[in-house]
Amino acid sequence: MSEASRSCVACRSALKRDDGLRIVLDPEGQPAIDWRGRLPGRSAWACYQKDCLASLFARGALARAFKQELQPPAKRWPIPQVIAHTQKRQRELIGLASRAGELKSGANVIERLVIRNWADYLVESADVGSTVSGQWKERAERRSLDLLPALLSSSELGGALGKAGPRSVLAARQGPVTRRLRQELKRGQALI
Ligand SMILES: [Zn+2]
Repeated sequence: MSEASRSCVACRSALKRDDGLRIVLDPEGQPAIDWRGRLPGRSAWACYQKDCLASLFARGALARAFKQELQPPAKRWPIPQVIAHTQKRQRELIGLASRAGELKSGANVIERLVIRNWADYLVESADVGSTVSGQWKERAERRSLDLLPALLSSSELGGALGKAGPRSVLAARQGPVTRRLRQELKRGQALI
C-alpha cells in the first residue's frame, strides 16, 4: 500500500493529505489508530465518516487491507475513540481561538457580531434546544454563514472558553485557529 495513493479501505474514495484516519497494527497485531501519522509499518486509511468507520470490520475491509484476520479491539471500535479524540481537539481549539480573539460567545454579543459581518461561521452546542437552534439557523442562513454543531455540550463549551456558565452558541471569525477548528467541527459532524 503506497502512501502516495491513499484511499479509504471502506468506500475506496481517494483521501487528501491530513484527511483520513490512519490505522496501523500494534506490536500484538491489534488494529490501533495512529493519531500523529508517524507510527511505522503497514497502514490502512479510512474517511472520518461514521459509515466508513462502522464498516471496517463488517465487510472485512480492514482485514483485506492488512491481509490477515482481524477482530475489533473494542465494541464499535474505532467510532467512540474517534469521537472522544475529536471532542478533545474541539475543546483545545475553542480555548485557543477564544484566547486569540477569534471566537466570541454570549447570545447578545453574537447577534451584534453577526450583523456587523464579524463572524465567519457559528458553532452550536450538541445539546442546544431546537427552538434556539432554529433561531440561529435562520440568522446564519440570512448571512450565508455555516452553523456547525460541536460534539460538546453547552456546559463543555462554557468550560472550554473558561466561562462559569454554559454557552450554546459561539461566533468564529476568520483566523488560523478557527480554520483548524472548522476542520474538527466538520469531522465531528460526519461522526454523528
Ligand atoms: Zn470512506
